[in-house]
Amino acid sequence: MTGWSFLIVAAGRGKRFGGPPKQFEELGGLPLWAWSAGTAVKMKVAGVDQVILVAPPGMESFFEKEASTLQKEMEVKVVAGGESRKDSVLLGLRAARGKMAMIHDAARPFASTELCRRLIGKAGEVGSAIPVLPVTDALKVARDGVITASLPREDLLATQTPQAYPVEDIKNVLEEAPGKNHDEAEAWLASGRVPGWIRGDPLNFKITFPEDLEMARRMVRGAEDVKTGLGFDVHPLVPGVPLVLGGIRIPFTLGLSGHSDGDLLCHAVADAILGAAGLPDIGTLFPSSQERFRGIRSLDLLEEVAGLLHRRGYRVLSVDAVVNAQVPRLASMHGPILDSLSRVLFRGGEGSVSLKFKSGEGTGDVGKGEAMRCWAIAGIQRVGTGVGDEPGGGRI
Ligand code: MG
Repeated sequence: MTGWSFLIVAAGRGKRFGGPPKQFEELGGLPLWAWSAGTAVKMKVAGVDQVILVAPPGMESFFEKEASTLQKEMEVKVVAGGESRKDSVLLGLRAARGKMAMIHDAARPFASTELCRRLIGKAGEVGSAIPVLPVTDALKVARDGVITASLPREDLLATQTPQAYPVEDIKNVLEEAPGKNHDEAEAWLASGRVPGWIRGDPLNFKITFPEDLEMARRMVRGAEDVKTGLGFDVHPLVPGVPLVLGGIRIPFTLGLSGHSDGDLLCHAVADAILGAAGLPDIGTLFPSSQERFRGIRSLDLLEEVAGLLHRRGYRVLSVDAVVNAQVPRLASMHGPILDSLSRVLFRGGEGSVSLKFKSGEGTGDVGKGEAMRCWAIAGIQRVGTGVGDEPGGGRI
């Protein structure tokens, strides 16, 4: 396999961004450039065996310190960049050991390994490869703040990085290219060469303006901010009370006794989603010491809990529950209970509920038909900042 060097250009001064160079901006707990370095290291299996970080001049030792954990996985070389992008890329290429190089902007943190693999594949076929995307917005020409004309977009492609080239060839091209270039393909084309291309990835967008960084942060938050909670409940089965599970009345001679309607499935699910959000359990929110909760429909409590989560900026993604019951046979109630829970949990949005019924195998209080137990696990996701509605004791 041909050796690949993965060059990350992080030498820019970020003039358009305002403030510190954008490659140092934090994204999901990491500086922007470190996202690309992580991708480069993951490409080891596809032939990448060297990462070259092109740092702003004078910041090499800072980068070396930051990159020390990556050094355990792969050779990481830090070199000082130059005045222009072209100078920085050339300085990086001179440190390359590989015959081939991926040249990448640190300002594109979401270059995927899948994109990199396709680039390596294409470059293997035709010698070089760049990722491009069709331009989808209608284009206008503005001069001195006045829109003066439209431009046809049909023949236009937007170019991304990484771009894949043979090291010696791209070095020669850049050394001989007059003036500056926006990307390496510009100089490659100007030299009379034609780059191979693949379809780029819209998620591999470039962080140029503060709004781009905000978009990137929302993407990372959306992917990460999933929390899980666990709930459990047990109630005795007694004569003379209705049996209610998941808000559905089930014909049977015994029912679940409790301060509320005894619906232990709703209780366990409510505790699971409250636990995921780090909120107090339903026993604290709706205490049995309060007379107004006597006989209350637990599905209404669950709906209230789902509303509370929503106001705190979360949505329920999934719930999985096991009801442990010897009697009665519950299989026929599966569909109605799922529908009932889905209606209150997802508030018209998407989500999944899974429910299993397990017998007590004749053992213990459940096996003797004296009690039911329920376990539930819930996944929730942060979708907003919430309005900070604090859970008050017994608020309903
Ligand atoms: Mg309970």
